[in-house]
Amino acid sequence: MRKHIVAGNWKMNKTLAEGKALASEVVNMVHAEVPGDVVVILGAPFIHLPAVVQLTASASKVLVAAQNCSEHAAGAYTGEVSVAMLKSAGVQYVIIGHSERRQYFYENSEQLAKKVDLALAEGLTPIFCCGEPLEVREEKAHFDYVCRQLTESLFHLTREQITRLVIAYEPIWAIGTGKTASAAQAQEMHAKIRGHLASQYGAEAANNISLLYGGSCKPDNAKELFANPDVDGGLIGGASLKARDFIDIVNSF
Ligand code: PEP
Repeated sequence: MRKHIVAGNWKMNKTLAEGKALASEVVNMVHAEVPGDVVVILGAPFIHLPAVVQLTASASKVLVAAQNCSEHAAGAYTGEVSVAMLKSAGVQYVIIGHSERRQYFYENSEQLAKKVDLALAEGLTPIFCCGEPLEVREEKAHFDYVCRQLTESLFHLTREQITRLVIAYEPIWAIGTGKTASAAQAQEMHAKIRGHLASQYGAEAANNISLLYGGSCKPDNAKELFANPDVDGGLIGGASLKARDFIDIVNSF
């Protein structure tokens, strides 16, 4: 059975002290207020990760993600952070292919496939992001666009490997814009993604992969989004920076 997951993506926000305070607040609120069977993930900046891993150790529901990793295993790549380093810091998840990485750092499908392979080889769970820009949706080419992103970076994986992934659908026009996909638009795309995964790996495998929605998900729209049969949770940017908002989203199933 697939899991309900709410993952925060702090992006390049919070000093180390602020990040530690936020992680502690989230952990305290999870202990006090989150009764359900939900996986809560904190996607912190690289230098925060060891501290956040330590601060979340007492909460079995709270796990930690990096926001990126190198496409190389090790070596002379100044400034990069390898999957092995993340693993050695106690990180369990890694966000791969976020649209900001694709857009501002020109990450392409081939590089993302290498990152996914390295993450899986080290036993980390990739949170693989996909999603279309506004002009593609306006041309009504969004289903093909997103399915192509999945095919290009993921369809070399075995069935066993693909079921170890989490996939986040994040329409670029909804990220950080306050413009959320409607519940119907999210469900429609998630069903399409699951169907595409099923066409390659079979329905059983596809049904075991958690599909998250991301894009201006907030406490006031999370319930409606998460009520969809193919929406298994959310990847949350802005609203993950406030513990209260984030926990309200976590409790929206
Ligand atoms: C994101 O960047 O992953 C995201 C979903 O951001 P926001 O929630 O701020 O739109």
